[in-house]
Amino acid sequence: MTAKIIDGKKIADKILNELKKKIKNLKQKPGLALVLVGNNPASEIYVNFKEKTCKEVGFYCERFNLDKDIGELDLLKLINELNQKTNLHGILVQLPLPKQIDEHLIVNSILPHKDVDGFTPVNLGNLVSENTIMAPATARAVLHLVDSTGIRIEGKNAVVVGRSKIVGKPLAMMMLEKNATVTICHSRTKNLAEHTEKADILVAAVGKPRLITREMVKEGAVVIDVGINRIGNKIVGDVDFENVKEVAGFITPVPGGVGPMTIAMLLDNTLKALELAQKIK
Ligand code: NAP
Repeated sequence: MTAKIIDGKKIADKILNELKKKIKNLKQKPGLALVLVGNNPASEIYVNFKEKTCKEVGFYCERFNLDKDIGELDLLKLINELNQKTNLHGILVQLPLPKQIDEHLIVNSILPHKDVDGFTPVNLGNLVSENTIMAPATARAVLHLVDSTGIRIEGKNAVVVGRSKIVGKPLAMMMLEKNATVTICHSRTKNLAEHTEKADILVAAVGKPRLITREMVKEGAVVIDVGINRIGNKIVGDVDFENVKEVAGFITPVPGGVGPMTIAMLLDNTLKALELAQKIK
């Protein structure tokens, strides 16, 4: 069997085009604040891409490049100002933050209805209580990509490798809500393959190049690769794509899979943030 490749870029472009149409006649465009602290090269690339996509789609975007030595109080002050701005509906603070800053404190200071990353405790709590207001963009991206295969999530064995607060855990919760039987694996999981080989839907969100090998994948499975790993000047995922595609039913490439879909979902969340702001007003 050779897997069908899930073209995340194509699916994302379609969503972005729909967003472009939706906002065309809006008097007020959705506005996104992008906050970048320091000069982590990977973070800079992600923020550049988010900014470029916002502009292409016609969103309003303001970028804040802050010194790596900025103090916690100054950053909190900026977030507070952004919380008050009526032309900025979403606030995204690119993670990770430098060591001197308490990430939890900063994320916590974003108003929940402006939290387009969906990382605040209020939004994560809403997600767990099946009352989602703003779901994390990457988890939404994964669900969209699975849906694009036509395979129903309900009743499937879904295995999520990685339990981070920003990807693995929210995604596992969202799959559970869609009635999958969900297994979450992590660095202390014994015999990872024993779990992954039972997966109808397998998601890798680890950050270890080619951790998921062909032998670990069930024939016909949907394999979604969230990982972004740099090897020299090449980017690879957490899945050994070339070999796993010989057994999987569907597979996402890296790059061109979850990455572009995550940005599309971020913009979708920003439009949602505008709608929420209008309701609150
Ligand atoms: P993270 O916070 O570092 O979490 C990694 C998770 O993988 C942890 O839960 C860790 O387990 C688990 N893990 C580590 N080694 C493992 C192993 N050998 N076997 C099984 N599990 C293992 O990373 P993240 O923020 O979730 O990101 C994961 C990957 O996705 C990264 O490559 C990141 O760049 C990428 N990413 C991509 C997008 C996108 O838009 N495409 C968005 C976000 C992240 P413990 O909890 O036990 O430590």
